[in-house]
Amino acid sequence: MFDFTVDATSGRARAGSLTLPHGTVETPVFMPVGTQGTVRALSPNDLRSVGATLVLANTYHLHVRPGEHVVATLGALHRFMAWDRPLLTDSGGFQVFSLEGFRRVDEDGVEFQSHVDGGRRRLTPERATEIQWTLGADIAMAFDHVVPGGADEATARDALERTLRWLARCAQRHRELADGRTGERAVSDGAVVRPSARPPIRQTLWPILQGGAHRALREEGVRRILDMNSWTGLAIGGLSVGEPKPVMYNLLEAVEPRIPSPIPRYLMGVGFPEDLVAAVERGVDLFDCVAPTRNGRNGSAFTPDGPVNIRNAEHREDPRPLDESCDCETCTTFSRGYLRHLFVAEELLGLRLLSLHNVRYLIRLAQDMRAAIRRDAFGPWADAWRRRYLRSGSA
Ligand SMILES: [Zn+2]
Repeated sequence: MFDFTVDATSGRARAGSLTLPHGTVETPVFMPVGTQGTVRALSPNDLRSVGATLVLANTYHLHVRPGEHVVATLGALHRFMAWDRPLLTDSGGFQVFSLEGFRRVDEDGVEFQSHVDGGRRRLTPERATEIQWTLGADIAMAFDHVVPGGADEATARDALERTLRWLARCAQRHRELADGRTGERAVSDGAVVRPSARPPIRQTLWPILQGGAHRALREEGVRRILDMNSWTGLAIGGLSVGEPKPVMYNLLEAVEPRIPSPIPRYLMGVGFPEDLVAAVERGVDLFDCVAPTRNGRNGSAFTPDGPVNIRNAEHREDPRPLDESCDCETCTTFSRGYLRHLFVAEELLGLRLLSLHNVRYLIRLAQDMRAAIRRDAFGPWADAWRRRYLRSGSA
């Protein structure tokens, strides 16, 4: 049920198929981010129309509001958000560590202040695993300790060690839940995980590699994660958090050869087109990022010739589509001039149309990369892609 097969390679780039309870995902793949159980401004039909196969939802946000038991009462996350294809939930670690305001980390977990009602809450490896089990996504992520990109070695070492100890606790709790050994065990906030609240379909748990920008820590972290268990996937976290891009690329080059080929590699939070190409070139299979929807709502669109800001006056009377090569609803229906008008007039449709196009752009980019890998022509494809995308100098 959690099978991954590498179908083709070209250099280090890989094309594969990831089989999950709710369907098969062809890789490389870009996952749109549904922070609060919705990819902002897009409906499930929109997501299907742009070829989304795997969507990410956010454990922290769904725990704080509406609460995982509300989601479970309404049929678990797939039913709740009406998405019948595969889902991945992140663990909440990244959100808890990026929140402004109160936060206290100890060996047991993290105490933090809810951004919704200001109340004190606590997440532990066990709680994060229970919440994700209750939500019922196909893939759950381990609860990790995230440090800023510029963290010194001692800080990064401390976070790596804690993340590894927490990983063992997540894996233990996940095994208990998967074995049905939930009983009526009270959990830390007084809620109870009842067998009836368990989704009928099983879920897999992926570890997250930390280690900051320190190569030796990353290499050691991979080895220790792999020694711990036979995982069905492995995520690389804590990158694209402010470190220079060459640092990220060098770390990927150091880490990737140490991960056995049948394990899919998920680079968390990376989603600018040039980063996707560079990471696939270095053996990464899965990505997620809020960039396509966030930038889309700001009027910034990805195109094969680099980013375009649709608000610019030059588009006022432009009859051309946003991206002549794109098959999305936005590009097959509307002119740049009309899209600019929507943004200038602050119409909601503009936000939806640019979000839709940007998600389609990244999904198609992943599909194009997959096709190039299957032709064993990834290198020349990537060179040609970069020549065109970076030519404008605005990217
Ligand atoms: Zn489009």
